[in-house]
Amino acid sequence: MLLYSSTRNPKETASPAEAVLRGIAPDGGLYMIDPARLSLDWREVCALDFYGMAEKILGVLLPEFSEDAMHRMVEAAYRGRFAAPDVTPLTPAGDAYLLELFHGPTSAFKDVALSILPRFITEARVLKGETRETLILTATSGDTGKAALEGFRDVPGTHIIVFYPSDGVSAIQRQQMVTQEGDNVAVAAVQGNFDDAQTGVKEIFVKCEEEHLLEGKNVVLSSANSINIGRLAPQLVYYFKAYADLMKEKKIAPGDPVHFVVPTGNFGDILAGYLARCLGLPVGRLVCASNKNDVLTEFLTTGRYDRRREFFKTESPSMDILISSNLERLLYLASGCDSRLVAEKMQELKENGWYEVPAPLLAKIQEVFLAGSCDDEATRATIKSVWERHHRLLDPHTAVAWNVYEQTKEALSGAPTVVLSTASPYKFAPAVLSSLEHPTPREEFACMEVLSAVSGIPVPPNLAKLRDLTPRHLDCIHKEEMADYVKGKAGSLDWNR
Ligand SMILES: *Cc1c(COP(=O)(O)O)cnc(C)c1O
Repeated sequence: MLLYSSTRNPKETASPAEAVLRGIAPDGGLYMIDPARLSLDWREVCALDFYGMAEKILGVLLPEFSEDAMHRMVEAAYRGRFAAPDVTPLTPAGDAYLLELFHGPTSAFKDVALSILPRFITEARVLKGETRETLILTATSGDTGKAALEGFRDVPGTHIIVFYPSDGVSAIQRQQMVTQEGDNVAVAAVQGNFDDAQTGVKEIFVKCEEEHLLEGKNVVLSSANSINIGRLAPQLVYYFKAYADLMKEKKIAPGDPVHFVVPTGNFGDILAGYLARCLGLPVGRLVCASNKNDVLTEFLTTGRYDRRREFFKTESPSMDILISSNLERLLYLASGCDSRLVAEKMQELKENGWYEVPAPLLAKIQEVFLAGSCDDEATRATIKSVWERHHRLLDPHTAVAWNVYEQTKEALSGAPTVVLSTASPYKFAPAVLSSLEHPTPREEFACMEVLSAVSGIPVPPNLAKLRDLTPRHLDCIHKEEMADYVKGKAGSLDWNR
């Protein structure tokens, strides 16, 4: 049996289904595996359609699920549930390509993974004979929350609690979450930023291990954040899909490199690209694009990770993050699975707020990764210029990536470049409309309509209908209260209001 192990301790192991159920390793590390132990023929994968690719890749990463079960889960998660029949279409834009990841039920790329994660959890519960209720805890910088709520709503055997930073999400993102329906969902605003919410969630996991926080409640915790390997694995699929599309259109010959530019926050999406590369896909460079919270740009250029810095609220809120969880997995993979080093660096980060990696490790990382950042002003200018030059409407996160693509273009010469487009512009309608220097109504739904009239692109139905929904989830708590909140919710699981 293929075993995952904690990035901090090789003895802390879990089967794929156990890793999916636990979310995070008991020692606070993330479940990972040495990709050298996995075998995948990328050429074979690239001959398939999206659904076939998903079955193949997920089958290799999560081999505990039977082929039949995987087929069933992939079909149920994607067939007919995305507005694009090939799920993640690749479209040309100027001299690059946009990988459109936002055609799912909540209009953000998180849908690709969160449409299938609840099915993994249900299947894993059966395999492991889990009879306790699975309680999903999720911290969100805006988009994960809604996609997770939608994915887990009314899934038998599960309950989900989402924590979002009280003033760190867009008005539309907030409305998406507070109006969520379903009898097993709870949503609370946390006074603080995303890092506070994410740290709070991680601490609750540790408290459960060490202080038996939820003892006797007949629940077991899991996570829908990209710390969960079941959330990360589906994100590899669209890298293969983009590569296969370029091959089909004869833009590349099989084996030619393709570069990817990724708007980055928690480092999950771009890490999936690195894993795809580890599994053989001819990925050229991976470009990590950050907003003004450029902690990753600093790390990838200097080898020093320092979170002791000012936190900025930006117009790309889903990337307002100073503690990027999945960087831990990159350190693990790029160091040849050196869990001692990872444990040491993570301890330094916790105790001192910073760490530095050895020069050879940095060099190894820099062979693949480039990085750049872009502030709100440049983001707005990018939205305007890409609309005017290429007639493509970018959301602020995608615009950050496009701007960084333009900054790094020279270093990327020679091979086609794919920019990951992570959200519908309508999720951030006021910011996008004002970037176009168009008169901007005060109310966000009015902005959606004007933006649609200006661009000729229809508003996705899931966003248009939000206007008429009544908020149901108005809890607002301090970050210190998160553990008690979870304890209270776990004490009585009947959340039917
Ligand atoms: C979550 C998110 C990102 C960042 O992805 P990570 O996996 O956290 O790096 C970028 N753009 C949008 C729209 C997002 O929702």
